[in-house]
Amino acid sequence: MSSLSDPFLLCIVALLALTLGSFLNVVIARLPVMLSRQWTHEAHQTLTLTPPTQPQTRYNLLVPRSHCPECDATIAWHDNIPLVGYLKRRGRCAQCRCPISVQYPLVEAASMALVLWAVWHHGMTFTGMAIALACLILLTLAVIDLRTLLLPDVLTLPLLWGGLLYQLVVHPDRLAESVIGAAAGYSVAWGFYWLFRLASGREGLGRGDFKLLAALGAWCGWQTLPLILVLSATTGAVLGIIIQLLLPRLRGAPMPFGPFLSAAGMLVLLGGDRVIELYYTIIGLSSI
Ligand SMILES: [Zn+2]
Repeated sequence: MSSLSDPFLLCIVALLALTLGSFLNVVIARLPVMLSRQWTHEAHQTLTLTPPTQPQTRYNLLVPRSHCPECDATIAWHDNIPLVGYLKRRGRCAQCRCPISVQYPLVEAASMALVLWAVWHHGMTFTGMAIALACLILLTLAVIDLRTLLLPDVLTLPLLWGGLLYQLVVHPDRLAESVIGAAAGYSVAWGFYWLFRLASGREGLGRGDFKLLAALGAWCGWQTLPLILVLSATTGAVLGIIIQLLLPRLRGAPMPFGPFLSAAGMLVLLGGDRVIELYYTIIGLSSI
């Protein structure tokens, strides 16, 4: 907890976290497009259709360079500096002056806050690094789900395996709770999906939510799943009602559940044993 009392180290960690946040913005913007292109290509192959004739430009997490979505102008390196670039240009493109989404500085600031919180409480240790990384992946998943209603396997599955490995290394005595948590998380979400679908004919959850809840079960243990579900369902329901009251045009539109699961998971991960002990006290279980 005291390792960040050194102001120099604090600044280094904050700058690294901001840089990571900037990279997460790239992942959030490009990963769904990359997956969509890949799925289109695979669908053409499966259906033995002629693939699209136009040559597809290279598009991945590194290429092309960051550019304005409106005028396509390449963003200068100094305008790409996390937080500073956005504030300097007052949230507008340097060329065409069109507004840049506030998502960019928010993700960068949230990344910094999550990493600093994890390292502050756990120090520059494997535990601190692992929890910070898990929170950054949860943040990425939350924003991608919010924007596209997707929770890509390429993020949820490594998060799940990472949780099992984390428990194996850090808390081998809790590995069974973690494995049961992963299986229970997936099963509970799967069961809810089918119950809701049979009762209403609609899908209440996406399949990505199964894997995300499994990952949270792996990281936090099966005992915390009811807490995560209650927190995410309650905040999701309250926010859903507020949005429908304030924005009637969104009534009936599908609402992502991933951001609420991710936020509840981050709370349990970052709150650590204090949140879990408080929860155990409330439900009357003995302390861990
Ligand atoms: Zn522009």
